[in-house]
Amino acid sequence: MTGLSEPPALGTPMLPPGTFEGKVVVVTGGGTGLGKAIGAEFARLGATVVVASRDPEHREKGVAAMNAAGGKGFGIAVDVRSPEAIAAAFDEIEKECGPIDVLVNNAAGNFPVLAEKMSPNAWRAVTDIVLDGTFFCSTELARRAIASGREAAILNIGATYSWTGGPGTAHSAAAKAGVTNMTMSLAVEWAPYGIRVNCLAPGLFPHDDLPSVLRDKNNRSEEQDAARVPAGRVGRPHELGWIATYMCSPFASYLSGHTAVLDGANWLRRGLRMPDFVPVYEQFNFEKDS
Ligand code: NAP
Repeated sequence: MTGLSEPPALGTPMLPPGTFEGKVVVVTGGGTGLGKAIGAEFARLGATVVVASRDPEHREKGVAAMNAAGGKGFGIAVDVRSPEAIAAAFDEIEKECGPIDVLVNNAAGNFPVLAEKMSPNAWRAVTDIVLDGTFFCSTELARRAIASGREAAILNIGATYSWTGGPGTAHSAAAKAGVTNMTMSLAVEWAPYGIRVNCLAPGLFPHDDLPSVLRDKNNRSEEQDAARVPAGRVGRPHELGWIATYMCSPFASYLSGHTAVLDGANWLRRGLRMPDFVPVYEQFNFEKDS
């Protein structure tokens, strides 16, 4: 059994060159990991890619990645939990780069914690960024696009535990489920204005920027990670870039309200004959109270 084959190499063109020439693409959290990889594919297709996040070092690395991919990188400081900060950042982007054509709501926070030990602050630390931040950025863009009569595309980055729940990460799973659901509401509300809203749910996509709190405590190798997935391999971040650019491109102009799952069939492999159940505190090496 060989599993699913590796994709073409990073940098291989999928859409016609210049598909996003003259377009302004904002990627929240575009300075690290998957956001950076997604932004780079827009940049490769000619976009001005705005890296919108809090940490100046992240933004600097993101802008360098967009420039290296052949686009134009632009960094903007923003905390997506603040509607006022988003409005100010969008003003600045419009002034420096022009009106926004594509918004990728990628920013997120996450950390494993037992639900019964999760403080209200811990809950809000994740839901404020993932659910509220996605809504605030999306509505800010939509108000501007509706007022100016310009078309736009929004891509939310979700997760497959939207449908399964996420034991050990109840805050993130609930927030991502909200994002998946909100994608459908906004798609219907805004299609009459030419605004498309879609969602992309990645599976297992390890990358070097992953915060230590999310790295597997058992330090599994890539081969061991690959054994977790029916595809027999983990995802490559540029594969997300390809599907993200397609979903926001004119080739997908009839696609709205959709959540695409890119996970090598991993989340579907549930059944009555699962491997032995491992309680959450054991999976994450947490202390058990009693
Ligand atoms: P990551 O490297 O930790 O990236 C998260 C980004 O969000 C950072 O660049 C961070 O930038 C930004 N961010 C966090 N809080 C913010 C805030 N309040 N305002 C603005 N920006 C903020 O994570 P990743 O693995 O690339 O994940 C990217 C997306 O894919 C997330 O939505 C995640 O849930 C989803 N996902 C990832 C995987 C995976 O296997 N990696 C699987 C499923 C889903 P600053 O620190 O500079 O603000």
